[in-house]
Amino acid sequence: TGASTQKYEKVIIESDAEVVLKVLQQRRQKILEQRKSLPIASVEKRLIEEVQKHDILIIVGETGSGKTTQIPQFLFNAGFCRDGKSIGITQPRRVAAVTVAKRVAEECGVELGQKVGYSIRFEDVTSSSTRIKYMTDGLLLREALLDPFLSKYSVIIVDEAHERTVHTDVLLGLLKKVQNVRSKNVEDHTLVGHKRASNGTILEKENTDPGVSVLKQFQGRKLPPLKLIIMSASLDARVFSEYLGGARAVHIQGRQFPVDIFYTVDPQTDYLDSAIVTIFQIHSNEASGDILVFLTGQEEIESVEKQIQENLKQLREEDRKMITVPIFSSLPSEQQMRVFAPAPPGFRKVILATNIAETSVTIPGIKYVIDPGVVKARSYDPVRGMESLVVVPTSKAQALQRSGRAGREGPGKCFRLYPESEFEKLEDSTKPEIKRCNLSNVILQLKALGVDDVFGFDFIEKPSRAAIKKSVEELILLGALTDECKLSDPVGRQMARLPLDPIYSKALILASQFNCLEEMLIVVAMLSVDSIFYEPREKLDEALFNPLFLIGQSRTAKKCFTSPEGDHLTLINVYRASNDFMETRKLQVGNNKHEKVLRKWCRENFINSRSLRLARDIHSQIRGHVEQMGLCISSCGDDTLQFHRCLAAAFFLNAALKQPDGKYRALASGEVVSIHPSSVLFRTKADCIIFNEFVKTSDKYIRNVTIIDGFWLTELAPHYYAKEE
Ligand code: ADP
Ligand code: MG
Repeated sequence: TGASTQKYEKVIIESDAEVVLKVLQQRRQKILEQRKSLPIASVEKRLIEEVQKHDILIIVGETGSGKTTQIPQFLFNAGFCRDGKSIGITQPRRVAAVTVAKRVAEECGVELGQKVGYSIRFEDVTSSSTRIKYMTDGLLLREALLDPFLSKYSVIIVDEAHERTVHTDVLLGLLKKVQNVRSKNVEDHTLVGHKRASNGTILEKENTDPGVSVLKQFQGRKLPPLKLIIMSASLDARVFSEYLGGARAVHIQGRQFPVDIFYTVDPQTDYLDSAIVTIFQIHSNEASGDILVFLTGQEEIESVEKQIQENLKQLREEDRKMITVPIFSSLPSEQQMRVFAPAPPGFRKVILATNIAETSVTIPGIKYVIDPGVVKARSYDPVRGMESLVVVPTSKAQALQRSGRAGREGPGKCFRLYPESEFEKLEDSTKPEIKRCNLSNVILQLKALGVDDVFGFDFIEKPSRAAIKKSVEELILLGALTDECKLSDPVGRQMARLPLDPIYSKALILASQFNCLEEMLIVVAMLSVDSIFYEPREKLDEALFNPLFLIGQSRTAKKCFTSPEGDHLTLINVYRASNDFMETRKLQVGNNKHEKVLRKWCRENFINSRSLRLARDIHSQIRGHVEQMGLCISSCGDDTLQFHRCLAAAFFLNAALKQPDGKYRALASGEVVSIHPSSVLFRTKADCIIFNEFVKTSDKYIRNVTIIDGFWLTELAPHYYAKEE
C-alpha cells in the first residue's frame, strides 16, 4: 500500500496587530454610534449657527445629553480653531476636566495632550498643538494673570455654570470684561485698572506685571473677538441671561426615563450604615443594573468600600458578584477612568461617588441611585473669619439631579435615605459658594489682575461686604496687600503666583527666610490632601485612630512617625520615611510593580496610599513653582526650633490658647475649640498651639496642630499681637 495522504486544513492565524486593530475598530464603531445617538447630535448645525450669530450663548441641557463632550468637537469641526486659536472649556471639578478630556481624545482618535488636552492645578497635559482644552475654572483664572486677554482662545465655554463655584462666578465677571475689550481695538482700552494716559501710553511703564507686558504686546493690534458659551444643566438660565446683558439661551431636549422615588419610613441615624444596607438589599432583590451612591468625601467612600468588601466575604460565592469603584476628586487620575469601565458579565457595579457624579460626569449603566441627602460644603463665618467644611442637607434641586442619574438609559429607582417629610424642608436650590467661603484667594487674584475696586467688581451675585472686608483685612495682615489695599511687591505678587491658599503661599515665602523651605514644602503638600492616616470609620475609640496610641502598639504599626511636637513634624516624618523606603528599595514612581510595593508599605503603616501619592505629586509641582520664583530651598536639618518658629510666623492667625477646662480658644476668632482626636496632640497640655484646619461636626475641632511658644507671636507677628496685649 502506498503512503496514505494526510489531510491538511488551512488555518489563518491573525497576527496580534490585526487583532488589536480589529478591537480598536470595533470600539471606534461603538463610540461613533454612541455619539450619533446623543440628543445633541441632531442639533449640531443649529447650535453652530447660534454660536456664529451670538457672541454670548447660554446652552441648557439635561445632564448626559452630550454638551461637554460634543460641543467643543462641533466647534472645532466648524473651524473655530483656525489661526491656531483654541477652545477652552472650564469645569468646576478636576475629575470632570480629566475624564472628559480622556473621553474626547478617544472619540477624536488622538493621543491625550495633543489636539485634546487638559490642565488642572498641579497637572498639565497639553501641548502647543492642543486645540480643545479642558481645565478647571480656577486654572483659567490663573491663566488670566499671565494673559489678561486670554488671547489664545477663540471660544471659552464655562461649563456646569449652575454649580456656581466661586471661581465660576469670578470668571464670568472677568470674561465679560475680556470679551468687551476684545470686541474693540485693544489700543483704545485697558483691561481693568491698568493706568493709561489719554494718549494711550501706559503710565506704569516700568511695571513688571506680566499683564502689562501682554498689554504692550497687543498694542495697536486687533485681537479677534471672543465667543462665550455658558453651559448649565439646571433649567434656570434667567440669572445668567440677565447678568450677561440679555444673552440668548437655547435648550437642548434631553431624554429622561421615569425614576421611582423611595423614601425611608423613619429618619436614619447613620446614613452610611443605611446606605450599605440598601446596597445589599438592591443587590439581592432587584434586577441587574449598576448602583450609584452619593457620599460626602474620600474618607466616607473608602470606609464604605471596606465595609462592602467585608460584607461580601460573608455571602455565598454566587451572591458575591459585586464590584465597587470609587470616584472623588483627589483620586489619582489613572484610577478615575475605572468608573466608566463596565462590570464583568454577571457582576453589579457599585459606584461610590461624591457629588461629582451629580452633573459633572455621566457614568453609563446606572439604574439605581442611593441618596443620603447630604453633601459636604464650604461654610464661612465672616465675623469670626472661620471657614470650615460641613456636611449639610442637599437642596431640592440637587436631590432631583441625583435621582435623574437613574433614568438615563431606562426606567430607574432612587432610594432617598430620609423620610418624605424631610424633602419638603430642603432649600429649593444651593446657595452660591461665593456667599459661603473665605474670599482671600479670590481677592488676591482680582488684585493681581488689576481690579483695584474689589467691592465694585461686577459679580453675578455680590458676596457680603463683611466677607470682602474680612478677607481684605486678612490679606493686609499677611502682607499681600499694603495698608492702602494695593498688591504688595514682591510678597503679594509672589503669593498670587502660587496656586495655593494665600496663607500657605505666605508660609512658603517665610520659610525661605527661616531656612526651612524643604520642610514647609512637604507640609504644604501634605496639608493639601485629605487625611494621610487611615481613620477607621467606627470611631470605636479615638485611641484606635490616634497615632500616639500606636506607640504602644508595635503589634499594629511597624513604625511610628509621631512627633511629640505636633502634626506638622509628624507629616514630615511620614513623607521622609516614604522617601527613604523608596530610595533604599530603589523604587521608581510610575512603575506599577514598585507602586504596589509602596502601597503595601503604606498599608502596614496605616497610611492612605492614595493621599500620599497625591501629596508627592503636589510636592513636586509646588517645588517647581517655588524654584521658578527663585526662593531659596534649604533645610533646617535638626533645628526644628527654626521650623516651629516659622510655623508660628506663618500661621499666627490660627493660634489658640489653652483654657482652664482644657479646650482651646482661637485667638483671632474667639472660637472655643477642641483638638481633633486624629491629631497627635489630642491629649496635649501645651499652652499655645497653631492649627491649620477648623472642622465643624457635632463639636468644633481643630486639626493639624503644633505646639509653639506664645511669646513668639508677639515677636514674629507684632503687627497683630503687640497691639492687642
Ligand atoms: P453632558 O455634558 O450633557 O452632561 P457629556 O458630554 O458629559 O454630557 O456626556 C455625553 C455621553 O457620553 C454620556 O451619555 C456619557 O455616558 C458618555 N460619556 C462621557 N464620558 C465618558 C467616558 N469617559 N466613558 C464612557 N462614556 C462617557
Ligand atoms: Mg457636562
